[in-house]
Amino acid sequence: MGRVLVIGSITCDVTAFADRLPGRGETVLGRELTLVLGGKGANQAVAAARAGARTAMVGHVGRDPFAEIALAGLRDNGVETDQVTPVDGPTGVAHIRVADGENDIVIVPLANDHVDAARVDQALAQAEPGDVLLLQLEIPAATTAHAARAGHEAGLLVVLDPAPAVELPESVWADVDVVTPNETEAAAITGETDEDAAARWFLDRGVATVILTLGGHGVLMATSGGSRRHDAYEVEAVDTTAAGDAFTGTLGATLAAGTPLAEAVPRAMAAGALAVTKPGASPSLPSATEIDTFLEQRA
Ligand code: ADP
Repeated sequence: MGRVLVIGSITCDVTAFADRLPGRGETVLGRELTLVLGGKGANQAVAAARAGARTAMVGHVGRDPFAEIALAGLRDNGVETDQVTPVDGPTGVAHIRVADGENDIVIVPLANDHVDAARVDQALAQAEPGDVLLLQLEIPAATTAHAARAGHEAGLLVVLDPAPAVELPESVWADVDVVTPNETEAAAITGETDEDAAARWFLDRGVATVILTLGGHGVLMATSGGSRRHDAYEVEAVDTTAAGDAFTGTLGATLAAGTPLAEAVPRAMAAGALAVTKPGASPSLPSATEIDTFLEQRA
């Protein structure tokens, strides 16, 4: 049983809830404020740990009170944090306002901008072939590209969720075993709005398996051997935040357990579907029991 290693972003999410979003220059009174762990990397680490994998987070927090909130959030969910080290300055922050079903977000990377190749090499020195390396794009793109190369060379299974879509060196794709963009990210990266064409773009550049996540429309999975669509599980969607993180984290956890992709994808889809039935980001990520019970019920 392999481990999941997540090299990525960690934030403290500062969320203010009000009855409506203020107009430009306006002040409104809110009704609630929450401070919780966030960041795509951390959310996927929590998703992987909840889905049953031994999971380690690699990244940086700052030296401020938010660092403790982030670290506690990881630990409380069973994520190993020995490789989350502090750097001088503040912890990354996502500043979120929620009102009336709408939200807006400013992400300030801060400590996340300091995750570099040396940090990656240190973490990978403890990895073993068969471990799954989960990467996203909320740390410097050059660091992610380095991690994909080093992980590939070390015999890890490299899974890249290219979110948010940023420019990457062309050479990165040959180091990626599985890529999991949503429709928007796939279009931004490939320039193709047609799903099959976007999948082909990644395959042509050396990615072994492309999994396009299509929200309530399920996934398109493509390899050089052909492509296949999976319909989404039907659920009552309450809040679609973190569906993609639930999907990719659970996919990583399930692949680390040695489960083949054909079985791991429906399990990841079940986690994505469960995540949309609950409000919030990390609080909505399902446990292994919830995922497996859901799959039994839907079998
Ligand atoms: P992201 O959050 O990155 O945009 P998606 O919205 O594509 O990712 O969600 C990831 C996966 O979660 C989807 O491929 C699907 O399997 C599942 N999912 C997302 N939204 C729904 C939904 N409304 N109903 C059922 N499953 C969903």
